[in-house]
Amino acid sequence: MLQEGTVVKAYGGHYYIASGREIFDCTLRGRFRREKKQVLVGDRVTFRLEARGYGVIEEIHPRRTTLVRPPVANVDRALIVFAVKDPEPSTFLLDRFLTQAEHAGVRPAICFNKMDLGTEPVSNIIGAYRRAGYPVVCTSALDGSGLDELRVLLEGHITVFAGPSGVGKSSLLNALVPGLELKTGEISRKLGRGRHTTRHVELLCLPGGGLVADTPGFSSLYLPEMKREELGEYYPEFLTYRDGCRFTGCLHFQEPDCAVKKAVEAGEIAAFRYENYLRLLKEVMEMERRY
Ligand code: GDP
Ligand code: ZN
Repeated sequence: MLQEGTVVKAYGGHYYIASGREIFDCTLRGRFRREKKQVLVGDRVTFRLEARGYGVIEEIHPRRTTLVRPPVANVDRALIVFAVKDPEPSTFLLDRFLTQAEHAGVRPAICFNKMDLGTEPVSNIIGAYRRAGYPVVCTSALDGSGLDELRVLLEGHITVFAGPSGVGKSSLLNALVPGLELKTGEISRKLGRGRHTTRHVELLCLPGGGLVADTPGFSSLYLPEMKREELGEYYPEFLTYRDGCRFTGCLHFQEPDCAVKKAVEAGEIAAFRYENYLRLLKEVMEMERRY
């Protein structure tokens, strides 16, 4: 009998495949091993059921996306987590993570955690990101508020969490996945340890459907390699204006008659988003010089 599922864990030649509400312990057909075809966590596969709970992978489906950090196929959601405070959120860092997610072809959503500490300090920021077109949820891993909304956001997706350490990523995962019991800061530490741990990235099954990587994605330090014209495409609120710029390929920087700059002056685009954009643009230009 053939069945379809998603690889959630790969270890010592065994591939654990989630299909329906069950996990199947599968091996790989010999020809895949000879072709050195790599199976990634997140891959959709067809497998043949051989015995109760056991099977053999017969087919690996084409990937829609491939993340490198962590190595997971078919990620279609990045949840970028910041705290309302402790640590104080940085919109510049948030915009870096957003840029990386968009560049990887993964749709970002933003989560402000620790809202039990009060959302007033960030209410302006939250409004700006919502107007820019991003889904924003406010949660508290401590008292459970907002978690239902977060569950809905993750349902039916493969998600990686991203964000600085200390914002509550491990705590949120513990709240979403019964019985997980990650230690405080555990997911953040995984990010720093590099190759060894990321090879064993695992997808956690959410009770309501949906899978979440147990290792955070992206990096707070590096931007992906890109052309300077690309950066503006990752700003959804710029896209509605750029047809009004005088020059095609306008960088919204020093060009005259720039519709994006006019929208910033008119208060239609948040000034801090534009300032962060200029800082990132300078980084991209620096990088271009080095390649
Ligand atoms: P990570 O490094 O992003 O995985 O963050 P952790 O989950 O380890 O949390 C860092 C610290 O923030 C811990 O001391 C948590 O107990 C605390 N914390 C996590 N979520 C919340 C929350 O919603 N509210 C409050 N007040 N503290 C939280
Ligand atoms: Zn422009």
